[in-house]
Amino acid sequence: MIGLISATAAGASARDRLATAWPDRTRVYDGPVREAVERAFAECDQLVCFLATGATVRLLAPLLADKSTDPGVVCVDEAGRYAVSLLGGHGGGANSLATEVGSTLSATPVITTATDATGIPGLDTLGLPFEGAVATVTRAMLDGAPVTLRADTVWPLPPLPPNVTAGVAGEVPTPPARPGGDDPTGPAADAAAEPSSRPADATAAPRRPLDGPTARAPQGVPTPSTPGAVGTGAAVLVSDRVVPLGPADVVLRPPSLVVGVGASRGAGVDEVYGLVMDVLRDAGLSALSVGELATVDAKADEPGIVGAAAELGVPVRTYPAGVLASVDVPNPSDAPLAAVGTPSVAEAAALAAAGRGGELLVPKRKSSPHGRPAMATCAVVRRAPRGRLAVVGLGPGARDLVTPRAVAELRRASVLVGLDQYVDQIRDLLRPGTRVIESGLGREEERARTAVAEARAGHAVALIGSGDAGVYAMASPALAEAADDIEVVGVPGVTAALAAAAILGAPLGHDHVSISLSDLHTPWEVIERRVRAAAEADIVVTFYNPRSRGRDWQLPKALALLAEHRTGTTPVGVVRNASRPDGTSHLTTLARIDPTTVDMMTVVTVGNTATREIAGRMVTPRGYRWQSEGAR
Ligand code: SAH
Repeated sequence: MIGLISATAAGASARDRLATAWPDRTRVYDGPVREAVERAFAECDQLVCFLATGATVRLLAPLLADKSTDPGVVCVDEAGRYAVSLLGGHGGGANSLATEVGSTLSATPVITTATDATGIPGLDTLGLPFEGAVATVTRAMLDGAPVTLRADTVWPLPPLPPNVTAGVAGEVPTPPARPGGDDPTGPAADAAAEPSSRPADATAAPRRPLDGPTARAPQGVPTPSTPGAVGTGAAVLVSDRVVPLGPADVVLRPPSLVVGVGASRGAGVDEVYGLVMDVLRDAGLSALSVGELATVDAKADEPGIVGAAAELGVPVRTYPAGVLASVDVPNPSDAPLAAVGTPSVAEAAALAAAGRGGELLVPKRKSSPHGRPAMATCAVVRRAPRGRLAVVGLGPGARDLVTPRAVAELRRASVLVGLDQYVDQIRDLLRPGTRVIESGLGREEERARTAVAEARAGHAVALIGSGDAGVYAMASPALAEAADDIEVVGVPGVTAALAAAAILGAPLGHDHVSISLSDLHTPWEVIERRVRAAAEADIVVTFYNPRSRGRDWQLPKALALLAEHRTGTTPVGVVRNASRPDGTSHLTTLARIDPTTVDMMTVVTVGNTATREIAGRMVTPRGYRWQSEGAR
């Protein structure tokens, strides 16, 4: 029994919502709060206190006896925004309870137990629609109980916690063949509407290897699963098919299907949407896995298509007739050729949108309205597995200069590739189960190749770099290796020049350039030509890779080139380890700079002829007349 205790009106209202939702599991304890807590503590195996954590801790303290027997306690704050697992996270079931209370009251569960808090992904954070026994599977995931993963669709999943392991078969079970085809009230319709229902419809969709934590996937020849294997424990399935779900199964729906649609002018939403749903149902495919509708440009605004996409909650992608005409399709015809200039719309658009390797699951089918000519066509294509490569800049070093988007991508990745020292910088942000591939300095090309190869294998990969990963870093070697068979996402980071500029003042207020003085990969003549050009053009320059033990003459030479066009009093900012705990910076001049204060952890920013030191800060005027006059 779960005891419910509240003190305020807002608390009582949230308490009553929970009591109404769970009439058989809960008991309301009224009266003075201290006594209510004492009674509930003695009588219940779990408590939900609609009280501040501080108040709850004080009330509970004298009652605590033993971890193995004390009830699990969850606190819900006054605004009902958080459900905090306060006591008995695992043993008392408070972590699961916080999750359940959270989903019932639309509050965020707050779980601080070490293994849980480090980011075991809630099913709702995996970025895919899902159906099935969500509470049961979430509870099993949070409690560390064994959860089986079965995937028949390769999709770049985030890492799953170590208690989620590949099933023996590693596949989603195929239900028995369905006898009839077109009955919308038949078992297929049941399964689509009620996910935890009995085995339903399926096509003989080709099986694909397992994705996700393949590192833990058992090796060997997969044996076909049977529906009998379902329901023996909590399971996460990944499939775009309508599949039989057991009482402890959740199915994640990857957006792996593209539906091509054609429609005559004036076709109704009902006809187009109805056709799409009929076709999906008959093929045993889930509408939740439709990622987009595709059609010809001329139909971009066709209300029936736009309306059907809205019903499905997916975008419409369109192609010029010429592009569709060049797609090889099994069922070309004259009607669309005459109307919009391509012999195929539905099949061609779906194949075009799915890209290379798309598989035509359902060839063109026409709608079948009663008593009038069909006005819509539809075809379904499954995308080839497409891995994901996120190229993520970690910023200059400080944790709060790592962008939230970078953090999200790190947690989204099941494989992390990077230089060991950068991996150390963010290791604590990674989710349990992330496979880390780290290597030492100078292995750039190998890292780039590894990252691309992992993405091509269908994984969600993050390739990390310091600052911005595109600035003298990994993005270019990686993208030079990558073809269009993977998705690439770039996450910008705060590059060293910007981190240093913020420390120095406002040195980049006008045109500026970055130049790397490393002549390992670039001939010195090229570097020198660029420095001369910047000097002549009076552009502020930030030198990256300015000086190392083996490269000590390049910086003085570059500064001398700038000095040919700038006075000796031109401000120069030297920033070492910007944003890191041992960071230093100083402001000097072209005439005075001491190169021995500069190393590979440093950037050097040289002002233009208008840059001034003002109150100890380096300021480059924006160049507006009134500003530059004021600064002179
Ligand atoms: N991708 C990185 C740059 C890599 S090149 C970025 O966008 O910042 C490596 C050079 O960057 C170093 O030699 C140094 O010149 C500079 N650098 C990187 N981080 C720095 C920091 N925190 N402080 C000062 N310079 C830094």
